[in-house]
Amino acid sequence: MKFTFRGGTHLREHKDTASLATVRLPDPKTVAIPLSQHIGAHATPTVAVGDTVLVGQVIGEVTEGLGCPVHASISGTVKEIRKRDTVQGFLVQDIVIENDGRHAFCESVKPWHKPLAETTAEEIVSIVRNAGISGLGGATFPTYAKLQSAIGKVHTVIVNCAECEPYITANHRLLLERGETVVEGLEIVMHAVGAQTGILAVEDNKPDAIKLLQGAIAARGDQRMRVCVMKTKYPQGDERQLIYSLTKKEVPFGKLPADVGCVILNAETSSAISRAFYRGLPLVSRIVTVAGDCIREPKNVRAPLGVSYTELIEFCGGYVKPLKKLVSGGPMMGQAQWDLHAPVTKGTAALLAFSEEYDRINTEYSACLHCGMCVAHCPMHLMPNYLAQFTREHKYEEAERMGVMSCVECGTCAYNCPAGVQIVQYIRTTKQALRKKR
Ligand code: SF4
Ligand code: SF4
Repeated sequence: MKFTFRGGTHLREHKDTASLATVRLPDPKTVAIPLSQHIGAHATPTVAVGDTVLVGQVIGEVTEGLGCPVHASISGTVKEIRKRDTVQGFLVQDIVIENDGRHAFCESVKPWHKPLAETTAEEIVSIVRNAGISGLGGATFPTYAKLQSAIGKVHTVIVNCAECEPYITANHRLLLERGETVVEGLEIVMHAVGAQTGILAVEDNKPDAIKLLQGAIAARGDQRMRVCVMKTKYPQGDERQLIYSLTKKEVPFGKLPADVGCVILNAETSSAISRAFYRGLPLVSRIVTVAGDCIREPKNVRAPLGVSYTELIEFCGGYVKPLKKLVSGGPMMGQAQWDLHAPVTKGTAALLAFSEEYDRINTEYSACLHCGMCVAHCPMHLMPNYLAQFTREHKYEEAERMGVMSCVECGTCAYNCPAGVQIVQYIRTTKQALRKKR
């Protein structure tokens, strides 16, 4: 049986980089590491200009509130601590490090000293926090906090290997090349939270990864873990759709997966937990899919955090045609970038460069045709046409009554709208207005 959810849509996949092995970006001359790479409080610098730093050394720490440390991704000298505007519209501090070419590791980078069976839940939470791990699927919620709140409350840990956005194949390559680390991460989290079931949820467009993971689980002989094969459909990777597909439980609005007994990790996050536990490696690099019709040689690249988009794109041969739009993340939920030199962060799953020809935004749209396509495809069972209309009329409370706050901004409605109504932009406006009011 293949698992699926109601609504959603089938997208052209464009996953041309799935067959290409991940390549490591040579250490750049400089990196600019942002002190805000996760949801929660910004980190404050723990180093000063002129300091020498080593790979894996803490360079920023969060002392109050939700957050985790930030580490140096190369060894060298701190050249500058500067402020930069982000695409989200707030200021962040970046620590600029000049490479000394040694790639020397900090002495704190060492494997955890106890076997998993003897490690407590609190120790695992601390390892994950100290490694600076936050959700690598793009959400960037600090993983330690997710685990902490799930201890003793969940029965199932799900590793989200859906990777349902077009173009992105970073997780697929990780499963093929380091699948065992994803399984190890699942085992560590199951141990921490006390879950009896572990699921690796993979879409059926990755048969090679499914086979490999099934083999890895069989080799471990752990009956508590299994691979669940899901139908390829967007947005299968959304947490609520994933839980519904696998368990047929709906997460009520305002509640979390833990409220229905589940905790969900992205595949690369799971692998990062294994690397932190077994090798002592903090999160200093990630796999980024660099693709889109403007890129000469699309690739999956393991890139150090803080390297600039420009450098990563040059490593992929640069542009073959004029760039219209650079997107961080997938084409459905990613964010268009205005700063082509911005740094790769923990949330950068992909960099997609599109020409005019591929930029699908419809600037000549008509009024709503009342065709119902958006309603039929919405995975959250909303009425996107009315939500857009209420925004146009500034009737935000009406939109709230119709559940606008539960919209996951997946873009499925706008993608299927024959009139080109920019439904998600309208919905975001309403959500912002309602949040401001509160
Ligand atoms: S209304 Fe929201 S959840 Fe529904 S399809 Fe549109 S963006 Fe997705
Ligand atoms: S898909 Fe577009 S045209 Fe059709 S009902 Fe929804 S908003 Fe209107």
